[in-house]
Amino acid sequence: MREVRVRFAPSPTGALHIGGVRTALYNYLLAKKTNGTMILRIEDTDQGRFVPGAEEYIKQSLEWVGIKIDEGVTQGGPHAPYRQSERKPIYRQYAQRLIDEGNAYYAFDTEAELEAMRNRLKATGSSNQQYSTTTRMMMNNSLTLSDVDVKKKLEAGDPYVIRLKVPDDEEIQLTDLIRGEVKVDSAQIDDKVLMKSDGMPTYHLANVVDDYLMKISHVIRGEEWLPSAPLHVLLYRFLGWEKEMPQFAHLPLLLKPDGNGKLSKRDADQMGFPIFPLNWTDPKTNELAKGFRESGYLPDALINFLAFLGWNPGTEKELFSMEELVAAFSIERIGKAGARFDIQKAQWFNQQYLKAKTDEDLSSYLFDSLAKENISCTKEKAVKICTVMKERVTFTQDFWLQGKFFFEAPTSYDAQVISKKWNDEAIKVLAAYSKEISNSTTLTADLAKSILESVTTTLGIGTGKILQALRVSITGGASGPDLMMTMEILGKEEVVKRIEYALNTIKKPA
Ligand code: GLU
Repeated sequence: MREVRVRFAPSPTGALHIGGVRTALYNYLLAKKTNGTMILRIEDTDQGRFVPGAEEYIKQSLEWVGIKIDEGVTQGGPHAPYRQSERKPIYRQYAQRLIDEGNAYYAFDTEAELEAMRNRLKATGSSNQQYSTTTRMMMNNSLTLSDVDVKKKLEAGDPYVIRLKVPDDEEIQLTDLIRGEVKVDSAQIDDKVLMKSDGMPTYHLANVVDDYLMKISHVIRGEEWLPSAPLHVLLYRFLGWEKEMPQFAHLPLLLKPDGNGKLSKRDADQMGFPIFPLNWTDPKTNELAKGFRESGYLPDALINFLAFLGWNPGTEKELFSMEELVAAFSIERIGKAGARFDIQKAQWFNQQYLKAKTDEDLSSYLFDSLAKENISCTKEKAVKICTVMKERVTFTQDFWLQGKFFFEAPTSYDAQVISKKWNDEAIKVLAAYSKEISNSTTLTADLAKSILESVTTTLGIGTGKILQALRVSITGGASGPDLMMTMEILGKEEVVKRIEYALNTIKKPA
């Protein structure tokens, strides 16, 4: 068996899309499962699309979700450098070999000449205006020019690109581990540029050369790269590397939450959920896109959710730690069909992971929020708040957002509760209740409950009738965590103060 070596090979053209994190994850799972090697290669040959900060962002994102890199831009390794812009001379020699062996050629066409070709073809009604087997002989390249002219042009420093000479009318085949046999007629493939006029290789050449040199065994990447695969197969053949060719696995697309069409940043923005792992400020527009991390998702929950977008373990079990995913993962269980990006499922995973934490651990999220608000709190109180809130929260910041009333007395009250429940009976009970509590010792949940029961019994008013009025006076809201525990956490003085304030300020509905 071939040693497993996989790579995640992003281009630093902006923030890392969540689909990229899934690609990295599947590569990582295979590497870990097989004791293989996970490589991070930065594909930055397209200088025009280079975005400063993007590489750092990618590295930080992988670190946050727990995808560890064995060889790469930061770690180094036997095939360094791992940043393609630093490997420029390597690609040149392979392009030269392709030319020397008649599988690639120099093309000197100017932008205007290329434009003229496309217009000519359009005018004849041709649907295909590519630079290809059918058009190359009409163009300005080393196949149509004499050797002497080519030499002259090269010596004169005329700008040129190097193009792949795609064979005429041949069926190119490859086996994809997810999609099975893929066949493409070479007539569908254009003579792709391999080296640009700035001396930089294009994605295709650099990607294939590096996968070969870095001994990559499996290329696991998004479905959008499937059309490039036959071209890559041709390159492996022309370079004499067919035996070393990696196995391909093209992952299914991520679809919008309703399943209609590819997931885009626009959909995510419109529906109000993140699409990037971490916050990202676009350096050109200064626009901030909120990340999963900053939206209150836990990295393990996000990983669990992403693992299921296209893969399933074949059992009912849904909650998987990274180690469990490694143990259960196999490429055979990745599906072909697009995976619906069900953000509610992501939230469900997050709730499960939050619930599984100790109250002590959860209190650190509350402390994070409190620090931002400059509010101090004892550890004991914070842990207690997390105990009562944990069944209700979805995100890490919810302990604060849904539990503000633990720190700030309400200044407004739920209008519906007031109109329906704030009546003479409630006012009577609350007045007596607050008096009894102020005479009590330390307030516990049990004590709060028994005092309430004795007050309502004495007054002959059902407890159920006034509970909502009591809650609204304490928290301002119509619903929330266990009310007796809430009062215990707030303490006797605060409870009395809040009830008295409510009695003095809330007007009885007419
Ligand atoms: N640089 C490509 C990207 O940005 C890599 C595609 C591949 O894995 O071959 O996704």
